[in-house]
Amino acid sequence: MQKIAIAIDGYSSTGKSTLAKQLAKALTYKYIDTGAMYRAITLFAMRNGFIGNGRESLEALVKLLPNITLNFVPNEELGFSEMYLNGENVEKDIRTLEVSKYVSRIAEIGQVRHMLVEMQKEMGKEKGIVMDGRDIGTVVFPDAELKVFMTASPQARATRRYKELLDRGEQVSYQEVLENVQKRDYIDSHREFSPLRKAEDAIEFDNSDMGLVEQFDRLHSIALRCLEKVT
Ligand code: C5P
Repeated sequence: MQKIAIAIDGYSSTGKSTLAKQLAKALTYKYIDTGAMYRAITLFAMRNGFIGNGRESLEALVKLLPNITLNFVPNEELGFSEMYLNGENVEKDIRTLEVSKYVSRIAEIGQVRHMLVEMQKEMGKEKGIVMDGRDIGTVVFPDAELKVFMTASPQARATRRYKELLDRGEQVSYQEVLENVQKRDYIDSHREFSPLRKAEDAIEFDNSDMGLVEQFDRLHSIALRCLEKVT
């Protein structure tokens, strides 16, 4: 059967990753969370004092980009791949609110985007992939056979992210999380290079009032119809 590329874009905390992961599993496709890549570069920048605590020296970060290696390493036990930064498993460290506070600033840098987009294109060249992010349908795979653009109200998204962070043991307030979600949306949609926007041929998916099972069922049948069309 012919394989396709599926691009899932949308605003912060719309549940893209959860859905993309489930869909990839059902189709036995590769799943790539591109947000994890931007988060890993941000963690590198924070650890090296290039961003955070009132400091910002992004030129120094750009010079070191060739020294950064990123890998998705499958974790058979968990059933998904984890992000490795220069050989270290950083899956937990990249998901904190602290990293979320700086990631959109790092994702604005043209050289960072260039490096990551090239890696992402390479990962998807054989198709059979579900990739989620902000610019997948517009920049990474403009020819993807299926493009989905996910939205939900800021409050619905902040509530989900707030619960997720509390479950992970982070001490955060709902207000802080809501502000972060709104700030990231703004920066991501207004940046100079590949801003977040819906591709013209993307299907819009508002999941504010939709449970996980319903979301998956809908998306899965859309994907199966798309596969029927191309084979
Ligand atoms: O998807 P996630 O919330 O983990 O993404 C973190 C951040 O990474 C986003 O807010 C955005 O700034 C950046 N990003 C991006 N392009 C992508 C994926 C993520 O700019 N394709």
